[in-house]
Amino acid sequence: MLYLGCHLSSAGGFTSMGKTAVKLNANTFQFFLRNPRGGAAKEIKAEDIAEYKKIASEHKFGKILAHAPYTLNPCSKEASIREFAQNVFADDLRRMENIPGNLYNFHPGSHVGQGIETAVPQIVEILDAVMPEAKNTTVLLETMSGKGSEVGSRFEELAEIIAKAKNNAPEKLGVCLDTCHVYSAGYDIVNRLDEVLEEFDKIIGLDRLQAIHLNDSMTEFNSHKDRHECLGKGSLGKDALIKFINHPVLRGIPINLETPNELDGYAEEIALLRQNYHE
Ligand code: FE
Ligand code: FE
Ligand code: ZN
Repeated sequence: MLYLGCHLSSAGGFTSMGKTAVKLNANTFQFFLRNPRGGAAKEIKAEDIAEYKKIASEHKFGKILAHAPYTLNPCSKEASIREFAQNVFADDLRRMENIPGNLYNFHPGSHVGQGIETAVPQIVEILDAVMPEAKNTTVLLETMSGKGSEVGSRFEELAEIIAKAKNNAPEKLGVCLDTCHVYSAGYDIVNRLDEVLEEFDKIIGLDRLQAIHLNDSMTEFNSHKDRHECLGKGSLGKDALIKFINHPVLRGIPINLETPNELDGYAEEIALLRQNYHE
């Protein structure tokens, strides 16, 4: 089964996102629970959730993916920013209990001025504090491009955080692989996809891989930049991305587009991928 969708605005609530997904021929989607800059969370209404669940079951949606605000930095040098990260993270996970059985993805953060050795225990500390809230949610760390002092551009870094976290069963803590980010980070998924997935399996474990962000990249291989491009218009190219979604070990993992598109552009990319997916 191909669970394919894209990032949607949560402004109209879950029912609205569900209906939009259906229109786009999507059967999953990604969204923010609050303003991506970290502002107040949207109110969650019981009727909205009930209506959404009907749409999701009728159209056999896969797991949906909430994305943490970009301002959430669990390894900031500033204690106040780490505290903010922990509060937002915990609050988001409590909200996720309204839609049990889904996924919550976050960026491990940027260790500006501190170094990775300081960052890892800080991220683990916040995870340990918030994970008890994730009763029916799997929390995912996103693979990052490694721009600036971003944590998580090497599989080893993600593996270390997961290994040190208390609540780290694979159904509790996993990874979201972003194709633009890993390619920018120096994992050649265009020419060496099998080897990269083998490396992921060896270091992190494929049982942890629970979501995909499918993006082309505006910048070249190993550039350590984070510039998403529309499918086929960037350095990964259409063929590599189609090969990627058809890889046997990635079957059934929800895939979301974060390409620079409006809804009609997303519809076209979803159609392109569905046409080129082989059951
Ligand atoms: Fe992200
Ligand atoms: Fe991403
Ligand atoms: Zn990105």
